[in-house]
Amino acid sequence: MRIAVCLRQGLDGELGPFDAAAYEAALRVEGAEVVLLSMGTPRTGELLLRLTRLGAKRAYLLTDPVFAGADTLATAYALSRALRVISPDLVFCGRQTLVGDTAQTGPMLAELAGLSLLTSVMRIDSLSDGSITCQTREGEAISALPALLTLERVFELRLPRIGSRTGELITLGAAEVGADPAKCGLRGSPTRVAKTFENQSGRRRCRFISRDELDSVLQTALQSARAVGDGEGEGSGERLVHVVTVGGAPRSYAETVAESITELPLSDADTLTREIGELKPDAVLWGSDPRSKRLSSLVAARMGLGLCADCTRLECEGGELAMYRPALSGSVIAKIRSLTRPAMATVRTDEGGAREIVVAAGFGVHDKMDAVSAFAERLGADLAASRKLVDAGIARYETQVGLTGKKVSPPVYIAVGISGAVHHIVGMERAGTVIAINPDKNAPIFDYADYGIVDTF
Ligand SMILES: Cc1cc2nc3c(=O)[nH]c(=O)nc-3n(C[C@H](O)[C@H](O)[C@H](O)COP(=O)(O)OP(=O)(O)OC[C@H]3O[C@@H](n4cnc5c(N)ncnc54)[C@H](O)[C@@H]3O)c2cc1C
Repeated sequence: MRIAVCLRQGLDGELGPFDAAAYEAALRVEGAEVVLLSMGTPRTGELLLRLTRLGAKRAYLLTDPVFAGADTLATAYALSRALRVISPDLVFCGRQTLVGDTAQTGPMLAELAGLSLLTSVMRIDSLSDGSITCQTREGEAISALPALLTLERVFELRLPRIGSRTGELITLGAAEVGADPAKCGLRGSPTRVAKTFENQSGRRRCRFISRDELDSVLQTALQSARAVGDGEGEGSGERLVHVVTVGGAPRSYAETVAESITELPLSDADTLTREIGELKPDAVLWGSDPRSKRLSSLVAARMGLGLCADCTRLECEGGELAMYRPALSGSVIAKIRSLTRPAMATVRTDEGGAREIVVAAGFGVHDKMDAVSAFAERLGADLAASRKLVDAGIARYETQVGLTGKKVSPPVYIAVGISGAVHHIVGMERAGTVIAINPDKNAPIFDYADYGIVDTF
């Protein structure tokens, strides 16, 4: 059994947490031969070599000037060519990288390499020569091999043992993997970053209130339920003639840019590829639930189309779709264009539950979780958590909000014991009314809250 683990070096020179979990998951498969694969610069080779000390025999580095500037599709293409050289039974990828935060490369790679696909894997239950059974975020899934798995952040990567040896590093260029230069790097990338600017969204003017006022503020917030800026902005007034939405979730975004909208059911990649091919719309919009993310990537790879991830705003500009999305952990907004038609984007829709109020707990209340749960129950709210609380083993992984968790936009978000790190804000900045409870009046969370209570919970 050969497992290829696809990795991307982060901006800090290290592995992102999802890729680290993918590598650890592969190392835990008994008797498997693990090899690493990454596309990057020679510096990435140093990281790969270091990582071979944990157990991978060999590492393949795809490096060539023609690979530079690749978007997710061009990256998946280059990796798919390298997989021909490696011929693995299984490919493990992290669910997403922190640099791109798209969750597209894994599914696109599965499509281009002809592998079956299991996304958001939490646990591997059984593995035989012919098939694999996993627990994913959407439930149990079984697949025939060869297959590609994208892993959730469910494992910490082990440390090297003292005296462990480095493995072999094999460097491959475009010609060596038979890659068509026209499909590689910037030239082969159907999406382009048009510009980037500072992300000011989510910033609010906080009104400080006393604890006694909380109930009345909540009542007002729920009544007005200024139901979230889905597809916020009125757009420029200019419109695309025909926009397709897959499922109903992206409709409010489509309404900001489209003259006419056709809604297709969220079916399967074959059906959707055919339907989109027949309708020939100007743009196709998808939701951000795991199934929409997976199917949009498969369809994009099959049709050779650009796919912009996680858009928070759309505009029509000169007959083209301008897609805006948070990037670099939410610190900037990038404006993306697609060079292919139809333009395709997943838009940020709520990934949380259906309740009106979310009570999110942070590390500041790690020793008060019974009280926080009772508070949430009294309000009929869903419980969520910061990553620090999840990492401390106090809250469930599935409840984590933020860059490496889920993105939620309930009418009311109450943050208790959360400091307001940018990584957390990116997951809740589109909530209707935000209320923060924190004894530190300088905590950044108050810059992103409509109401603040400066007090311990
Ligand atoms: C690459 C990367 C990705 C990340 N992804 C995420 C992510 O997806 N989601 C996420 O949340 N974080 C993420 N983080 C972590 C993030 O940077 C912060 O470390 C984390 O959000 C802090 O969690 P916290 O606010 O619960 O804890 P802390 O920062 O420790 O804050 C605790 C707060 O509680 C307050 N407090 C103390 N006592 C009380 C009390 N009795 N009542 C009320 N308040 C009290 C304190 O004043 C403090 O402000 C990520 C980090 C990195 C590097």
